[in-house]
Amino acid sequence: MMSSSNIWHPYTPGISGQELMVDHAKGSNLYLNDGRKIIDAISSWWVNTHGHAHPAIAEAIGNQANKLEQVIFSGFTHEQAETLASRLLQLVPGNMDKVFFSDNGSTAVEVAIKLALQYHDLQGDKRPKVMALSNGYHGDTFGAMAVGARGPFSRAFQPWLFEAEYITPPYSQTIFAEPDPGWDISLQEAERILETKTVAALILEPLIQGAGGMQLYPIKWLEKIIKLAKEAGTLVIADEVFTGFYRTGKAFASEYLTVQADMFCLSKGLTGGFMPLGITTCIARIAEPFQPADYEHTFYHGHSFTGNPLACAAANASLDLCEAPDFKERIASLCAFQSGFAQAINTAFPEISARSLGTISAFTLGKGSDYTHPIRQKIYPYFLDKGILIRPLGNVLYVLPPYCVTVDDMEFIRKTVFQFFAEHT
Ligand code: PMP
Repeated sequence: MMSSSNIWHPYTPGISGQELMVDHAKGSNLYLNDGRKIIDAISSWWVNTHGHAHPAIAEAIGNQANKLEQVIFSGFTHEQAETLASRLLQLVPGNMDKVFFSDNGSTAVEVAIKLALQYHDLQGDKRPKVMALSNGYHGDTFGAMAVGARGPFSRAFQPWLFEAEYITPPYSQTIFAEPDPGWDISLQEAERILETKTVAALILEPLIQGAGGMQLYPIKWLEKIIKLAKEAGTLVIADEVFTGFYRTGKAFASEYLTVQADMFCLSKGLTGGFMPLGITTCIARIAEPFQPADYEHTFYHGHSFTGNPLACAAANASLDLCEAPDFKERIASLCAFQSGFAQAINTAFPEISARSLGTISAFTLGKGSDYTHPIRQKIYPYFLDKGILIRPLGNVLYVLPPYCVTVDDMEFIRKTVFQFFAEHT
């Protein structure tokens, strides 16, 4: 079957290009209609965790489809959502108390921002601003764009985006970097703005900015800015849409921290990458002003498929797989592989900035991260040609496979990355 040129593909210059027709997928491999096998080295936009077409998740979705496929989530609830909510409250750090369902990462972020704004509004506290980190990415809906980096993705919509205050984190090769006097400028700037008590929320991707170029920044800096925000009455939103569910080696990136956010946004790996689902969690204090059962104190947000039972069943099955006896060992060995991989690239190619965090390795060619860098046009086809799906962020090549990836596949990816750098540096 040929691909249709009537489909408008996402993030695709020219609307559609030469899309590859996927017939089926298994583990960390995609199998194309023409018989080719491609290793999914980016977990299909960072969503897949246990592998494609995992039988346990497929079965859970099938069973649920035969029982209850969908039901309105206002006035009704169901077992899969109830189970998932109570499991997440146990798992997510920071004494979370409420779980709000939506459909994807962007909606999880929209919900967090709206909750923060309405929380202050209901208390008569005028806080019109949101603080975010420079270079962040939180999704493509308007609120999410407003708090993300302003650049090529959002340029056409600039006049309609609400203002955000940006603080630049001190990027480092490791999240374990010690405090540096250089941090003072960003922290003093944050403190100055927060002290005005006009900031409703601080939103950030903890420790690694994904779409912004897989850039790491230190635990200790993040702890300081979270503390400053909390002291000023600003709610802290941890966007763990990318980092959640073991991507950084721990269940959540925030587990590296000694202070916790007040809200978490989850999606992507939440369902093992099987179904779209977004979750926003919050501490009890945030829900308090919404308690009176009248129209004025209601949170008016919901989507047709909020709390979809099939998506919740996939998430529960995925969490079961995270409890398997060998799961943590597999994560640990993938983390060790990625760390060795990054070190080996650093030694062999000192001009490349190589780093790893948990199951993620990333390599920057040249200075800073640049989404429109022309090297992208070389990287993508080079790897596809060799049977590996690597979709660089401009000049940032990264590898983040499903956790079931085999050692042989990782060795092949590593060898091919070495070969690419040898030919292109
Ligand atoms: N937040 C972060 C940190 C993300 O990486 C992404 C997606 N890459 C989103 C939010 C948006 O998620 P979605 O694409 O599911 O809307």
